[in-house]
Amino acid sequence: MKPPSVFELMRRFDLDPKKSLGQNFLVDESHLARIAAAADLSPADTVLEIGPGLGVLTRHLAAQAGRVVAVELDDRLIPVLQELFADQPHVSFVHADILQVDPASLIADDKVTRWQGDKVIVGPSPQSPVPSPQSPVPNPQSPPYKVVANLPYYITSAVLRHLLEASQPPTLAVVMVQREVAQRIVAGPGDMSLLAIGVQFYAEAKIVQKVPAGAFHPRPKVDSAVLRLDVRPQPLVADAQPAWYFEVVRAGFGQKRKQLRNSLAAGLGISKETTEAGLIAAGIDPSRRAETLSLAEWGALAKGVGEEIGRLRD
Ligand code: SAM
Repeated sequence: MKPPSVFELMRRFDLDPKKSLGQNFLVDESHLARIAAAADLSPADTVLEIGPGLGVLTRHLAAQAGRVVAVELDDRLIPVLQELFADQPHVSFVHADILQVDPASLIADDKVTRWQGDKVIVGPSPQSPVPSPQSPVPNPQSPPYKVVANLPYYITSAVLRHLLEASQPPTLAVVMVQREVAQRIVAGPGDMSLLAIGVQFYAEAKIVQKVPAGAFHPRPKVDSAVLRLDVRPQPLVADAQPAWYFEVVRAGFGQKRKQLRNSLAAGLGISKETTEAGLIAAGIDPSRRAETLSLAEWGALAKGVGEEIGRLRD
């Protein structure tokens, strides 16, 4: 039987999309199928979906993954989703703001249900309430998980950062974002931005699908794209500490279009001489601009300049 469309569901449950929550529902079945396919799901996988909305993507995930936990902020949608998936015990819904919860703990603390081919294994109920990000201690019970989502665009960068910097990040994320944001994230040296570096430090990023505005209801003002982020087992620049790395990168981008010798000295509060020496030691011409550096060059710089700042601040 054909599954109900977004329009039928909105009529049946008397719902209007909430613009303030970024509710642009994906109505094109072929795009939904391709998003799920990009995540290479199998019954061994646990999926965390952010913003299930009316469950149209959830349906595809539920058909392929062993377990789906979906986090939705709109309280109107939780009973709807529970009714729609009542006969699928391997799918569960959490009413929460994704930015306020530790993603891996959602997987660990949720009722454990697994679907294996034709049988469902139901485990114990949750022992503790949904944890907050203030307790980011890795939960030893959390299995590896993938994130698949048609993200609410108003929090795209915040969500990506929240996932990638989590105590236990996903192994893979397949996310729909605004196309221009996707292009900025996958950029190479010459077009790098803080966002691109922030994501590529943790994951290999590529665009797997372009999605036109007409594939959504209501139709957004912008086109979209699906990003696949293969999260690295170790951040790319292994010998630079993330704290230094990002302090140096932020300083470099702090004053747009300035030469690095100036932006870094101003942003890090160190002399131009020290900055130039650090840049030259890392093999980087001090007159270059932040957007031209590769991740490896930022790594070399963060290591040299970071150690120097450390000495100066001690
Ligand atoms: N997955 C559905 C689809 O593809 O049609 C809906 C996607 S819609 C672009 C984004 C969804 O994220 C909405 O259902 C919205 O209510 C939800 N949402 C917005 N902010 C959220 C947040 N902070 N945490 C969790 N869900 C959120």
